[in-house]
Amino acid sequence: MPTIELPDAARFIVIGGGVHGLSSAWHLAKELTDRGEKPDVIVLEKSQIGAGASGISGGIVRNYYRSEAMTDLIAESVGIFESDPEGFGFHQVGYLAVVPEAQREDLEAIAERQREVGYDSELATGKSDCREYLEWLWPDVSSDGVQAVLHEKRSGWADAIGTVRNLARHAREAGVQIFEGVEVTGLEYSGTEVSAVITGAGTIRCEALLAAPGLWAPEWWRMQGLEPVITVGEGDDAEQRPLTEYWLAREGDYVLPGVGLAGNAGRAAPVVHFDHTEPLYSDRDGELITDQPWGIYFRMGKTGGGIVGGALPLEMGPDFIVDPYGPDNPEQVAGDDLSEFFTSGLAFALKRFRGAGDKWDSNPNGGVLALTPDRYPVADWTAPNIYSILDAGHGFKMLAVGREAAREILGHRPSPLLEPFRLARFGTGRTHIVSKSPYPWT
Ligand SMILES: Cc1cc2nc3c(=O)[nH]c(=O)nc-3n(C[C@H](O)[C@H](O)[C@H](O)COP(=O)(O)OP(=O)(O)OC[C@H]3O[C@@H](n4cnc5c(N)ncnc54)[C@H](O)[C@@H]3O)c2cc1C
Repeated sequence: MPTIELPDAARFIVIGGGVHGLSSAWHLAKELTDRGEKPDVIVLEKSQIGAGASGISGGIVRNYYRSEAMTDLIAESVGIFESDPEGFGFHQVGYLAVVPEAQREDLEAIAERQREVGYDSELATGKSDCREYLEWLWPDVSSDGVQAVLHEKRSGWADAIGTVRNLARHAREAGVQIFEGVEVTGLEYSGTEVSAVITGAGTIRCEALLAAPGLWAPEWWRMQGLEPVITVGEGDDAEQRPLTEYWLAREGDYVLPGVGLAGNAGRAAPVVHFDHTEPLYSDRDGELITDQPWGIYFRMGKTGGGIVGGALPLEMGPDFIVDPYGPDNPEQVAGDDLSEFFTSGLAFALKRFRGAGDKWDSNPNGGVLALTPDRYPVADWTAPNIYSILDAGHGFKMLAVGREAAREILGHRPSPLLEPFRLARFGTGRTHIVSKSPYPWT
């Protein structure tokens, strides 16, 4: 391994080469240049850029969230994808949420908020309007039990590792230096302010620090001398909850030779989120898979032929061992049961997939992500010159968090977009509204 030559000092240090760290570094450098100042920003990444969740993300860019604050923030983030769609591998094919009666009210509220912020979408409600809308997209769709359909026109999907690399490219072009293979192991303080970071390759002085540690948030909390817990609620109702809990996002790549997702007139299929309360039966043997609310999501594969999709995630708890992280760790990928579930759900949704049995070429994969107690991210100061961004599984589509954080750091003025994502919300009961979706992250 060649020795890494680190600078003795950098004005701003960013920890973490995932989407949040890279977006923050890029925007910090850009803002500094815009002010006529030197873009003295470095990123320290313990492994490689994209080594965390960002590199294996499903890449879905949607704005289907009950929290109004998310709608605002994602609308801004989609603007960043739209600014360089080719670079990010952003496929703006739209996003379709198809839901049963229990989630109709959620969709109506989300559509209303999207209208307010100018996020172009269409809503259909009621059995016959939903059927008409869906059949306009696919002739063989099953609309049984569907009571609301939301079609987001600006959404779609982006290439995950392509997005990471493109953020790194923008950051470097803006003057950021990115150091891979450099783990931050400790901090030096001058009073309450951090004065330097300690790494395996040397100590670097800094004026301010931004950390976006992704799944390694508990270690980051401990490094700052904080217990990785959050007090949720006030007074007698207050309870201590783990800072992050881990979930296994169960996803996979699926190919049914000769059969794809294309819609009427060969139209590119939007990304689809299909939730249901009807029982789901196996498409192989007709056995009941579940009579509980279920859901699948899917989109076209990278090459256009295959399908990338997923189903409900599995709860792994707060003590899950994150390392070694990634799809090479058998503990961190979906099992074959996902394939049975997913292809049966797909056969339920689109008749063209029915009775395919063993003809599917299935590759279940996915990965682990970390969620905060209310399953929404945190963007906040954790010391006078330390800014922390905690992921909550939506990070891929939240590139604007880094931009707003950069502006807060440089201007020390609170960003209205980030105000709802402060740590204080947990202790004051101002956490985000949760939808009735069976998913923990909607
Ligand atoms: C299977 C899967 C599918 C997903 N699908 C979607 C999707 O479709 N749409 C969506 O929006 N989101 C999706 N997500 C979630 C999304 O990928 C994450 O929310 C997002 O990537 C988090 O970005 P991050 O920068 O916070 O963290 P990460 O990408 O985890 O990056 C953190 C980085 O920090 C580094 N690091 C940590 N500690 C240190 C240290 N001490 N020193 C130096 N470096 C350090 C790590 O090595 C890592 O590279 C998915 C996630 C998974 C796992």
